[in-house]
Amino acid sequence: DTIGENLERTVAAFGERDALVDVVSERRWSYREFADDVDAVALGLRERGVRKGDRVGIWAPNCPEWTLVQYATAKLGAVLVTVNPAYRAHELEFVLRQAGVRTLVAAPRHKSSDYAAMTEEVRPSCPQLVDVVLIGEAGWRELLDAGRELLRGDGRAQLAAVADTLSADDPVNIQYTSGTTGFPKGATLSHHNILNNGFHVGELCLYTEEDRICLPVPFYHCFGMVMGNLAATSHGACMVIPAPSFDASATLRAVERERCTSLYGVPTMFIAELSAPDFAEYDLSSLRTGIMAGSPCPAEIMKQVIGLMGMEQVSICYGMTETSPVSTQTRVDDPVERRVSTVGRVGPHLEVKVVDPDSGRTLPRGEPGELCTRGYSVMLGYWADPDGTAAVLDEARWMHTGDLAVMDEDGYVSITGRIKDMVIRGGENIYPREIEEFLYTHPDVLDAQVVGVPDARYGEELMAWLRMREGTRPLTPETLRTFCEGRLAHYKIPRYVHVVDAFPMTVTGKVRKVEMREKAVELLG
Ligand code: ATP
Ligand code: MG
Repeated sequence: DTIGENLERTVAAFGERDALVDVVSERRWSYREFADDVDAVALGLRERGVRKGDRVGIWAPNCPEWTLVQYATAKLGAVLVTVNPAYRAHELEFVLRQAGVRTLVAAPRHKSSDYAAMTEEVRPSCPQLVDVVLIGEAGWRELLDAGRELLRGDGRAQLAAVADTLSADDPVNIQYTSGTTGFPKGATLSHHNILNNGFHVGELCLYTEEDRICLPVPFYHCFGMVMGNLAATSHGACMVIPAPSFDASATLRAVERERCTSLYGVPTMFIAELSAPDFAEYDLSSLRTGIMAGSPCPAEIMKQVIGLMGMEQVSICYGMTETSPVSTQTRVDDPVERRVSTVGRVGPHLEVKVVDPDSGRTLPRGEPGELCTRGYSVMLGYWADPDGTAAVLDEARWMHTGDLAVMDEDGYVSITGRIKDMVIRGGENIYPREIEEFLYTHPDVLDAQVVGVPDARYGEELMAWLRMREGTRPLTPETLRTFCEGRLAHYKIPRYVHVVDAFPMTVTGKVRKVEMREKAVELLG
């Protein structure tokens, strides 16, 4: 199916059920209403000249219009280019030019971001950009009105004619990676790639039309738009938007008010929710499942999510933008220990293997190496970047993830870190992830990250970056050493400690270790 066909199926089966709720504005759509608005937006965009293959950018924090544009562009066969809401003008310009965006739909502004002004600033240098529509303003209202008018006439026939020209293998998105390790890369993904991935993620979460999924994760990223939106719409479940951008209390409030059964987040979001001062005030008893993903998921936090938030069936997913994104996922019936400490087993209809990054040889179970993924989920390629694509996708279409992993005898995968983050100290390979897991077990530590810093004697030394719980005393290299001694091999005990209030983060909630390493070098002078 294309995404449009799949949505039509859901409407036929669950038309009167909730599709979308925006908690802040208290707007809600049934599947029938949602599909009508999607069609109106599609026809409105078509009126303004958008055709199959055209790139349409969306630049906004989470809001219902974001989702309408997501499905509307899919129905037209246009390619949705999802722009990070944290971008500034020069980054926007890069994406608009790189993807050749024709039409940009943007929020006028959000918090300190004046999207309208930044768009005007870059317009002269983006000749392909011929149309800008600001959500909620005159242009958006005209677009919706025009679309609704057409729906009263032959609009549906027009859309049906467009649908006949589409194939599930057509590109539907250009999604940029988080930019954790460098400049973001635009992964070109087809209907087939992301619709199947969203569907299977939903299957493993056991979604039905009864589920209500709370989505504080950004839509511009696959976590929101695929694992969230497409998993929901392919199962008739409801998408709940707690707030335009992440806010721990707003998320908890949304779960309570909308009786959400599922909650998504990167680990830092769950940490923020669990430590919110008003955590105990919310009734979270409706929660059954949810997904933690995006970066290493500490077992301690998983246990708290299960125990304190009641998310008995919470799942860990591992993946990357380039693979739509999910490659491995824990299942509800996996043993609890595996569900909190691994990223699960390979997803349906996919393959994974662990290889020696230098020779490419497949490694036996239990040996760490680079994880590779193959199957329906692998991107068509990076947009307009054949060299970049060739660097990660080999001839047999294995995606080389750049992540280090170990697969055990039963097929459970553990991510030990990114190849780029591995530290070599005095000839010993050190996976910061393992030390971070250990540091989380310290009662005063709220959040922990470990990076390598250059060292004249050992090549590299370890620095632990820590966020401490309120009212506790910051750890020092000495108190940290005392805590680790006898429980971690001596070479894994961080030599330096740096206590901070917040880590440098990407909008997708990933810790920017590159920045932390640079800062560490500066600190050590
Ligand atoms: P960039 O490629 O631009 O440097 P990025 O890799 O962070 O950024 P994404 O595609 O958003 O961009 O993230 C994919 C990466 O996130 C994976 O390659 C992996 O390193 C990490 N990741 C995702 N899920 C997990 C998980 N469950 N456990 C550990 N790491 C994870
Ligand atoms: Mg990446």
